Amino acid sequence: MNIAVSQTPHALNGLRRFDQVDPIVADDAGIAAAVEDADLPSLLAALAALTGDDRLLAEELRPPPPRMGASIKPQGGMSEEAQAEARRLAVETIIAYRDSGSPAPDPATPLLERAMGFIARGAGAEYIPLLKHELALPRDLGAPDWIKADLAPDRDFKVAVIGAGLSGVAAAHRLEQAGIGYTVFEKNPDVGGVWWENIYPGCRLDTPNFAYSYSFAQKQDWPEQFSRQTEIQKYISRVASETSVRQHVVFETEVLSMQYDAAAALWTIETRNAASKIRTETFNAIITATGQLNKPAYPDIPGLRSFQGDLFHSARWPAGFDVEGKRIAVIGTGASAYQIVPSIVDAVSALEVFQRNPPWMLPTPNYHEEIKPGMAWLLHHVPYYGRWFRFWQFWIAAEGRLPLVEVEAGWDHPISVGSANEGLRLECIEHLKKQLSDRPDLLEKLTPNYPPGAKRMLRDNGVWAAALKQPHARLVTDKIQRIDKRGIVTDDGQLHEVDVIVLATGFEASDYLMPIKVTGRAGKDLHDWWAGDCRAYLGITMPGFPNLFMTGGPTTGVVVNGSAIFSAECAVEYALSAIYGLLAGNYAEMDVRQVPFDDYNQRVDAGNLTKAWGVAKVSSWYRNRFGRASQTWPFSLLEYWRLTKNADLGDYDLVKA
Ligand code: NAP
Repeated sequence: MNIAVSQTPHALNGLRRFDQVDPIVADDAGIAAAVEDADLPSLLAALAALTGDDRLLAEELRPPPPRMGASIKPQGGMSEEAQAEARRLAVETIIAYRDSGSPAPDPATPLLERAMGFIARGAGAEYIPLLKHELALPRDLGAPDWIKADLAPDRDFKVAVIGAGLSGVAAAHRLEQAGIGYTVFEKNPDVGGVWWENIYPGCRLDTPNFAYSYSFAQKQDWPEQFSRQTEIQKYISRVASETSVRQHVVFETEVLSMQYDAAAALWTIETRNAASKIRTETFNAIITATGQLNKPAYPDIPGLRSFQGDLFHSARWPAGFDVEGKRIAVIGTGASAYQIVPSIVDAVSALEVFQRNPPWMLPTPNYHEEIKPGMAWLLHHVPYYGRWFRFWQFWIAAEGRLPLVEVEAGWDHPISVGSANEGLRLECIEHLKKQLSDRPDLLEKLTPNYPPGAKRMLRDNGVWAAALKQPHARLVTDKIQRIDKRGIVTDDGQLHEVDVIVLATGFEASDYLMPIKVTGRAGKDLHDWWAGDCRAYLGITMPGFPNLFMTGGPTTGVVVNGSAIFSAECAVEYALSAIYGLLAGNYAEMDVRQVPFDDYNQRVDAGNLTKAWGVAKVSSWYRNRFGRASQTWPFSLLEYWRLTKNADLGDYDLVKA
């Protein structure tokens, strides 16, 4: 069945295939078996919206308010009785739906808001527009509700998008919907960005997959809750192909510089392609989507280059590299190492993991689990179930953990920063203790001495401790002194002889837009002006750099509530609304004024100091070299969404075309 979701007039049919479901031919027993595997809160909402039967939204069936803590309870904490009744009703409803010939659903069902409220407990009226945007029913609400041909038919206006990763593909899609001419420049030979680049063993998501997908392209059939790199790469690639984005991407072409010409109100972009050919092209506006966690940080360890074995960064894992039987050293214990180590431990002959600071780990038992067969069947047969499941995943993660990292005035503890933070700390330690009761030495080394949330928390289903407990594996906490041709020498004088060194040492996260040379009005050099301490209004615009919009910019990283896709979509929609302002008002340029820029940054800097990452002394990519949390968004998702929903032209100096 191909479901029609009404879109703007320029909706692109290919994306509708993401909602495709099959007609139900299963017998009653098959349906009942499938419902056993269901995520019930979202199934009740999906079925209520589908059939209009409000018995499915009865108060007794409603999941309790989400509990703030390290992990989320199965079925949102519904009681056993509520679950049994929910299953009974769901089976009855699906059978009746099948028997009525599986009619196409009404995307604008009258029960939409009630079904949203049923599962999004605690969401006040102020959340409804955001939640509708995320559910994208009855239509894709992030799509521009205008097209250039209506607004400024005679105006020449084209936009450059830099990067064809997740944010770039989203930006291109929105420009396409608005009927604006654009070109995407991508340095790699394919779309995907970090998901194309990171091919190390074990690479997968650590944000629940359904929530880590575009609101405008909601895939129903993710194979796992936290899918692997190949699946995410396939998804981005499919979105680029199902829309016309792919046709607009100039691959293997790196942007070297961008220079603004105020007299013409045009940006000149200089590129270099795979054949080293340099070209320039002019654009009215630029949306940068260059990513943030993609410039490898190489550690400053003496002798690094003298090593005679194989040495590479985790994000530059050589395709097909075989670790079988080799002695491997992994430097770093962040998200990348955490995925590499358990994936290779069984194949290697010796594994040494070099840790400076242990990560905090969130208990996530289903981290490597496939979507259960019954759940997969339901996602393939119940119209919009995938959307409701995504919505539920989005809601339980949204804002939920923010209070857990809050700095509490007067809280006096050597590690935690507040009572909720202390609760989270104790819960995570309990989780560690359960896994390491037989290895007090490892427990001590793996217990962080900084507050949870001060740096990226990792998903844990026990594979990390299990890998480190293997007889041929070793966690080394002695400081690395140097690297020589045979291996790594630690402060205790020991040489750790290995065949391969993997640098899982992270990224230059705070150097936004590097190494592109960006020259704005009157020759203003962006990187000189920033001097390494990057700032932007809403993380998107900078004074002196008109018509330049960043995605994934400073202070936009939502690190405990939501995903990078959320902030990217916000920034893209903001850029589109700004472009609307330029076209509707017949302006040539918009340049953010200093006052809103300063006010915004002061407020966000102060906000970051109320969060664990803003005050803790531990090293982390959340903070730049000056110690300022220049990467993180400290407030609610709702607030960022509201601030970026529409560009306020009052914040900008405007010049008529
Ligand atoms: P990271 O979190 O920045 O971790 C880098 C690790 O290298 C840290 O353990 C760090 O130690 C260590 N390190 C750095 N320099 C070192 C040195 N000179 N000597 C010894 N150790 C050193 O980097 P990452 O693991 O690549 O992850 C970066 C971010 O990318 C993640 O936080 C996440 O947002 C994203 N990511 C996501 C996924 C996913 O979704 N599945 C996977 C991978 C990465 P200290 O802790 O002491 O600084």
